[in-house]
Amino acid sequence: MKTFTTVVRYDDVSKDLDIYIKEELLKNGFTVDEVSPSIVIVIGGDGTFLHAVHERIEELDKVKFYGIHTGTLGFFTDYRSDQVDEFINDLINKKPFITDYQLLEATVDDNKKYYAVNEIRIENISRTQVIDVFVNETEFETFRGTGMCVSTQLGSTAYNRSLHGSVIQEGLPLIQLSEIAGIHHKAYRSLGASIVMKENTKIEFKSDNFSGAYLCADAYNYPIDNVNKIDVILCEKRVKMLKFKEISYFKRLQSLF
Ligand code: NAP
Repeated sequence: MKTFTTVVRYDDVSKDLDIYIKEELLKNGFTVDEVSPSIVIVIGGDGTFLHAVHERIEELDKVKFYGIHTGTLGFFTDYRSDQVDEFINDLINKKPFITDYQLLEATVDDNKKYYAVNEIRIENISRTQVIDVFVNETEFETFRGTGMCVSTQLGSTAYNRSLHGSVIQEGLPLIQLSEIAGIHHKAYRSLGASIVMKENTKIEFKSDNFSGAYLCADAYNYPIDNVNKIDVILCEKRVKMLKFKEISYFKRLQSLF
């Protein structure tokens, strides 16, 4: 339980905190293990947290994440940089509880899998993308536009929010489908609003032509030119976070927006 590594944003405040946190933890019986740590300490922002999770995507069952935000509060972190001593003291002296969050899994042509904490997007910025959307094997609509975004509860405040999707309160393991610049006129019409669905929903995107399109999993993008089908579900992979205190979801929202 006492092995750790850090993932640090490239700014001076985060780098200085990294040095301080490491010194204090090493003095208190922790050891650095960059290969298979039990704790990954994230110093930076929610974006840094996403990168830290993706670096360990194959070993999420073995690690727990613990974060300090060098900006405001954040959705993945419970401490700001001016609370660094509390952050260290809690880790050394207090008994944690674990909160875990299911990841999205995108399966491309029944084969390759990609995972996301916030959202899976299909985006084509070079031409109108036509996508047939199926929900739990039932044909739902044909979308035309830039793309579609499937987000988790955690991701509801990220890209999804910029698409005017709903912000989903913590504790509701729902998935949400939002349009990215859908075309709506007499000839073409899709729902034009985001839909919040049950956690066990499977969303399927099919197209005869995904050329120029990308599958985006959080900050990572993959070309899908020769792909025909992408399924998205909430999967059994989970990211586990170390917690020492409860912070109201609405306090986080208020501090961020
Ligand atoms: P990034 O710079 O790491 O993140 C972009 C911004 O999104 C940062 O301000 C980040 O917060 C914030 N963020 C990330 N996850 C969040 C969450 N769950 N709730 C609220 N804010 C969140 O950008 P990136 O590396 O390209 O992509 C990472 C994520 O950024 C994506 O998963 C996507 O959701 C989001 N993003 C949003 C837009 C948009 O809204 N138009 C565009 C690109 C990316 P910190 O400052 O704390 O890191």
